[in-house]
Order: sequence, then C-alpha cells, then structure tokens
Amino acid sequence: MKVGFIGLGIMGRPMCKNLLKAGYEVTAFDPFAKAALDDVVSCGAVRGESNADVASKSDVVITMVPNSPHVREAIFGANGVAEGAKPGLDIIDMSSIAPLQSKDIAEKCAEKGINMMDAPVSGGEPKAIDGTLSIMCGGPKAMFDKYCELLNVMGASVVHCGDVNGAGNTTKLANQVIVAVNIAACAEAYELAIMAGVDPEKVFAAIRGGLAGSTVMDAKVPMMLDGNFKPGFRIDLHIKDLNNALDTGHGVGTPMILTSAVQEMLQWLHNNGCGSDDHSAILKYYEKITGVEMRKLDK
Ligand code: NAD
Repeated sequence: MKVGFIGLGIMGRPMCKNLLKAGYEVTAFDPFAKAALDDVVSCGAVRGESNADVASKSDVVITMVPNSPHVREAIFGANGVAEGAKPGLDIIDMSSIAPLQSKDIAEKCAEKGINMMDAPVSGGEPKAIDGTLSIMCGGPKAMFDKYCELLNVMGASVVHCGDVNGAGNTTKLANQVIVAVNIAACAEAYELAIMAGVDPEKVFAAIRGGLAGSTVMDAKVPMMLDGNFKPGFRIDLHIKDLNNALDTGHGVGTPMILTSAVQEMLQWLHNNGCGSDDHSAILKYYEKITGVEMRKLDK
C-alpha cells in the first residue's frame, strides 16, 4: 500500500515518521515546512513536489493540516490532491475540522471518484511521537476496516464513531470541549490555591491521584508550574476547535455555556499576543486578572 502524507507540522511530522518506521512506503509534502520535509525524507520518505504529486504516487493520502480551508486547498486547490488522484483514491483527513465541513468535503470528493474518511486525533505531540494517539473515525465502516491497521501504527485507540462523514470530528469536538474546560478549571483552582497561600506544587501532589485528577491535569499543570507555554497545542488551534464546537452546538440546540466562557478567555489571550502559546497558557488569563503569577511563589 502506497501512502501519501500531507501536512508535516507539530503532529504530522512524527505521525509520518511512525508510518515509515512501520515499513510503509510514504510520499510526503508540505509547502510551508521545508525542514520537516527534509527530516521525513532523511527517514526514508519520498519527497513530494506538490499535493497533486503526492496523490499521483499514492493509494491513500493522509492530510494533517490546521482547519477546513487548508483541507479544501490541499485537496481541491491548484496542484491539489484531486488533480493528481488516481481513480478510487482514498483520503483520510486527520485534521480537526467542523463536522459539516468534513461531510461537505467528502461529498465533493465522491463527485470526483475519491473516497474520504475523517479521522481526527487526540493526545498531542507526545502521543504523536509515541504512536499512541486516540483516533476517532467517521465514514463508511468498510473504509475504516481497510485502514484500521495503518491507523493503529499512529494510535493506541482507533474507534469507528459512525458511518456518516463528520462523526469522527463530532467526537473530536466533544474531546476539545472537555479538554478546554478542564484546563480552565485547573488554572482557576490553582490560582485560588496560590492566592490563598498554599503552594500549588503541594496542591498538585495532593489531588492528582484523586477524583479531580486527569490526563489533562497531569500534562498541563506541570507546564503551568514551570511557566513553560511552548506548544504542544496552540491557543489559536483551540479557538478554532471551540468555534467549531459552538457552531455545531448552536446548530443542534445544545447549551454551550462552559465552552463559551473558555472561548472568551482564549480569544482574550489571542488578542494579547498569546495565540501561539500552548493552551495551558489559559493560566495567563487568571494571572493577568489577579496580578499574581503562579510560578513566582516558589521559583
Ligand atoms: P501545525 O500548524 O503545526 O501543522 C499544520 C501543517 O499543515 C503546517 O506544517 C502547514 O504548513 C501545513 N499546511 C497548511 N496548509 C497546507 C496545504 N494546503 N497543503 C499542505 N500542507 C499544508 O498544526 P498541528 O499542531 O500539527 O495540527 C494539525 C491538526 O491536528 C489541526 O487540525 C489540529 O487542531 C489537530 N491536532 C493538533 C494537536 C496538537 O497538540 N498540536 C493535537 C490533536 C489534534
């Protein structure tokens, strides 16, 4: 099976490298990430010259780009996947995009004889590197079955969430709501502790193993304690996900009260120059309001 990989950013680069390690023949391309392309080529990938070139050399093309306009550009734009696609090409879009966009792109692909499945991921850069992502798939079960083994190279959990295109992205939105609200709750709670005079490192040690503990707390609170906001997952990408969640929630009539509140915090951070920080920088919102910086207590 010949695999194409498009989008070699924080996530795509290690995911592509894991496919190469597992022995897949991969042609890769990213027009804006030359160092990452050089890196995957040095690991055995064929250097693609364009998205169309990648498609012409592949049975299945994986896209891992920021949002739906980038997916559309990569597939339908000039020199895009659709231009180079062989009849019956499969596309697995692993980007996190709005479910309705995913459905619409899949329908446009079908008009061109291209099959599509959405398979967004959770786990961030460390799990992309380890090949232990959680992968949420939407689209025909037969296509899921065909690519389950390949997806398992990049993930520890690969779940078919529904036969409808976009079902994977709906699942991913649920994931992003829970992560955002959890990070904001951690920032609020640790800021409370520090202002009440309790060492936040002690709070972390005391509560991480109890009911309040979470994968989010374990990953993000140490970053807050260190004042290390290097991404990881950029605030601007989380704004994109929460806007997609709000649009979808409003479309189906779900109350999105907590999501709206955290979206406002993230938007404030973006407006104040923090859009490229890791989303653990939600802490900075609380630090700005209180004037108390967590990391200065004991460092
Ligand atoms: P990134 O910005 O680091 O990488 C995206 C890459 O896509 C860039 O290298 C860019 O050059 C490339 N790209 C953009 N338009 C393109 C086009 N038309 N053709 C080819 N390449 C193109 O983003 P990322 O952090 O790797 O995230 C990618 C996707 O995965 C996003 O949808 C994000 O929401 C999702 N995601 C990210 C994380 C994370 O922790 N970073 C975790 C889970 C899911």
